[in-house]
Amino acid sequence: MLNSDSTPPSMPVPCPELLSPYEQQVDALIEVGRIFWQRGWSVGTSSSYSAVVNDTPRQLLLTASGKHKGRLTREDFVLVDAQGEPTQAGQPKSPAEALLHCVAAECQGVGAILHTHSVWSTVLSDRFYPQGGILLEGYEMLKELSGVTTHQHAEWLPIFDNTQDIPELAAQVRATLLLAEQESSRAALHCFIIRRHGIYTWGKDVDEAFRQIEVLEFLLECLGRSATLGA
Ligand SMILES: [Zn+2]
Repeated sequence: MLNSDSTPPSMPVPCPELLSPYEQQVDALIEVGRIFWQRGWSVGTSSSYSAVVNDTPRQLLLTASGKHKGRLTREDFVLVDAQGEPTQAGQPKSPAEALLHCVAAECQGVGAILHTHSVWSTVLSDRFYPQGGILLEGYEMLKELSGVTTHQHAEWLPIFDNTQDIPELAAQVRATLLLAEQESSRAALHCFIIRRHGIYTWGKDVDEAFRQIEVLEFLLECLGRSATLGA
């Protein structure tokens, strides 16, 4: 006789047809949400995650607006164009911050962008906003960032003021990222922070972006805890 213990596990919800070619990236971003929620970096429906799934024309797979990040399903994503607009009607709503993902995706070699609303990025962004950013130096963990080979590295985390005017914010971010790419004397940026809001980072794929945000969250927490200890 069958009992509840012998009931086969329910099959996951299939991807909507438009997203079925990107099922692997969808599942990777669902896993990102589950882990980030557990770590307190993406509480409630906050945060957004994306993967670049086409280059010409550029298209991003993006978490839809208003979805709980600890309980994402395969139906909680939207495919957007290079301006952050849905590629087709009938999809879930794209988040207000879609354009910021698109701007980060304009940088060379970027294949995934992860945005969290963590406590430390929120607190420290306010404290360091008057200085324009946060400078991290001398930490061994800096070597975990892509392209960094020594702890004797100065990592600049620019901070932008928060606003609901996303096109204006996107223009500021784009100008800063472009300048960093053009100035070969400066190390490439790995992230940007929005004041009292959260952090954006990226990588060539979801795995690399995941590692980068782990490192940056670790370093921000070190900085914050040092400050509370008076160090
Ligand atoms: Zn946000």
